[in-house]
Amino acid sequence: MALMITDECINCDVCEPECPNDAISMGLEIYEIDPNRCTECVGHFDVPQCREVCPVDCIPVHPEHVETRDQLMARYRFLQTGAAASGGDGAGGAQPDVAADAPQAAVSGPDPR
Ligand code: SF4
Ligand code: SF4
Repeated sequence: MALMITDECINCDVCEPECPNDAISMGLEIYEIDPNRCTECVGHFDVPQCREVCPVDCIPVHPEHVETRDQLMARYRFLQTGAAASGGDGAGGAQPDVAADAPQAAVSGPDPR
């Protein structure tokens, strides 16, 4: 299960450096967890490190990202492979296809005024 940070977050900054997957980053107003990188610390630790340090207990399971331990372990291995590939010979296995496919901004037409 990927975890998520709720709006009770007080931006205390302590969770970000604890994440072994670099899944936590500052969002527009509060910290956010990238569900494509969060393994609930599976593969690294027995318990989610962000939850361990959060002083306001605002990191529940993301209801849209409920996953089995096997799925989380697969993500852990995937992230490890990707990290090795990007830092090594680039001949690693399949790369995660998580590129942000940002929609093109609509080109505004002539103003009919
Ligand atoms: S549970 Fe672990 S992997 Fe997920 S965001 Fe928290 S520290 Fe990072
Ligand atoms: S530890 Fe908790 S309160 Fe602090 S930044 Fe992370 S989510 Fe927010």
